[in-house]
Amino acid sequence: MDLDRLRNISIIAHIDHGKTTLSDRVLELSGTVDARDMRAQYLDSMDLERERGITIKLQSVRLDWRDHVINLIDTPGHVDFGYEVSRSLAACEGVVLLVDAAQGIEAQTLANCYLALENDLEIVACMNKLDLPAADPDRCAEEIESVLGIPAEEVLRISAKTGDGVPELLDAVVDRIPAPVGAADDTLRALIFDSHFDQYRGVVSSVRVMDGTLRSGQKLRFLQAGASHQAEEIGIRSPGPIAVDTLGPGETGYLIAGIKDVGEARSGETVTDAARPAEEALEGYRDPKPMVFCGMYPVDGDQFPDLREALERLRLNDSSFTYEPESSGALGFGFRCGFLGLLHMEIVRERLEREFDLNLIATAPSVAYRVHTKGGEVVEIDNPSEMPDGAEVEAIEEPFLNVTLLTPSDYTGTLMDLCQTRRGEMDKLEYLSPERVELRYKIPLAEVVTDFFDQLKSRTQGYASLDYEPAGDDVSDLVKVDVLLNSQPVDAFSMIVHRTKADDYGRRMCEKLKELIPRQLFDVPIQAAMGGRIIARQTVKAKRKDVLAKCYGGDISRKRKLLDRQKEGKKKMKSIGRVEVPQEAFVSALKLD
Ligand code: GDP
Repeated sequence: MDLDRLRNISIIAHIDHGKTTLSDRVLELSGTVDARDMRAQYLDSMDLERERGITIKLQSVRLDWRDHVINLIDTPGHVDFGYEVSRSLAACEGVVLLVDAAQGIEAQTLANCYLALENDLEIVACMNKLDLPAADPDRCAEEIESVLGIPAEEVLRISAKTGDGVPELLDAVVDRIPAPVGAADDTLRALIFDSHFDQYRGVVSSVRVMDGTLRSGQKLRFLQAGASHQAEEIGIRSPGPIAVDTLGPGETGYLIAGIKDVGEARSGETVTDAARPAEEALEGYRDPKPMVFCGMYPVDGDQFPDLREALERLRLNDSSFTYEPESSGALGFGFRCGFLGLLHMEIVRERLEREFDLNLIATAPSVAYRVHTKGGEVVEIDNPSEMPDGAEVEAIEEPFLNVTLLTPSDYTGTLMDLCQTRRGEMDKLEYLSPERVELRYKIPLAEVVTDFFDQLKSRTQGYASLDYEPAGDDVSDLVKVDVLLNSQPVDAFSMIVHRTKADDYGRRMCEKLKELIPRQLFDVPIQAAMGGRIIARQTVKAKRKDVLAKCYGGDISRKRKLLDRQKEGKKKMKSIGRVEVPQEAFVSALKLD
């Protein structure tokens, strides 16, 4: 097709600023989807995504506008999926920046705009929700000008809901965003920017042809995976799939090549012609690196094989999480899983419970530590219970993040306080306008994976936003705290914490467990220990739990019911030494608070 008539774009927007509504409106106005058949929110297809209002799986869709073809490439809307965003931006020549005119620009949106600028993409900025009385487009346009240098008068004003200004936006896309360049007879290089597993077709990848031509039936070489596959089908989405014979330079579409595992067709992969392979892969490929880890255990030990199968199946669809079997004295057999971030962890867990009908216990999230031993070895551990004995440890490194917060200026104080209690070091404080402040901190990842995000939202009534990027590992004064029940350590409660926070963690765990562990026939000491030294202690006093005490003289069937229930309860007990602990106690104690 004629390259001059082609535009490849993504919409960059903060969650809730109206990306989905705008995509729907654009599909409708361009006649891509008949208004009558229009399924609301066409681009978001996974239920979970829709419920949480986030996009994880990327799709692209092709639409016609004024004699031009626009490929709208979706990007995931959460900070855990930053790498995926960078790959979909690599498939575009320009972006539409969409900002809610009542809210202003948010941290992650800003980070994505910087990413677009670094990649020399053209930005068409627009403000949304102009139909709302709360919209303050003049102030919002000034903010966009001051942080991104886009002149305020160039910022478009639209309502994705009513459609006002949307045709002008599409005109601006055609006029301002450059067409792709490339030659149809060059050596083929196509970028994969998303893959998902389809039960019937196997892996379906979204591709952008950068150079040359991708042909149906062609023998292909996947440069990063080092594998060869045949292109069984290639096509475009408009919005349903339509098979085509070729995809030329600058075009985007889908590729099906008989692949069974998304790990073999990852985002960032370069596809080339097996007969005439490109020498160099496209820039920017990265192996996914899990940042947050936790143990996942079935509540019912019999479900262990089901959990294994569910993980195998889910991984076909998401190659960025990892899992390996582990066992815990307290929780039995389960898996140690690694995720890109906290939300990713929640999504995987929720999908396991929902799609595979499993009931799971997850241990507290942990990060990967690099432990330098006195013997000069460096070991990487992602489970606190693997920590070498304190006496052998020379130093421990932990991962850090560069965190950017954008907030209404009223909340600056409370956010600085939050970051400081999380061991953050300030890099920057800047007023974007009299009402809005940008804060930058370097904070240990471990301090962010506990409830940082929730705190951020509750302290600012949801007005502050967050973006982060990895900032490498650094040495910190970390110690392992163990929790002992009746002198037996319980592995699931071991935690690596900063020395200044060890006492607090120990005390809180002991108090919590005292509430959760039922009385036994003997006194049960609960202790927290750090390097062999006890730092906190509680005792569960002995008492026989006599379930019949309340109903002497009562009728026999009631007594039997109570005894049955007690027996049922016993099945759910785990023994730690001589102490019987109900499964719920683990679940509650492991909950973050
Ligand atoms: P996304 O998270 O960026 O995909 O945002 P959505 O498209 O789901 O929109 C978030 C909310 O804002 C929804 O309740 C939309 O109905 C609403 N919304 C989106 N655009 C407009 C608009 O132009 N005007 C008004 N009043 N509401 C809008």
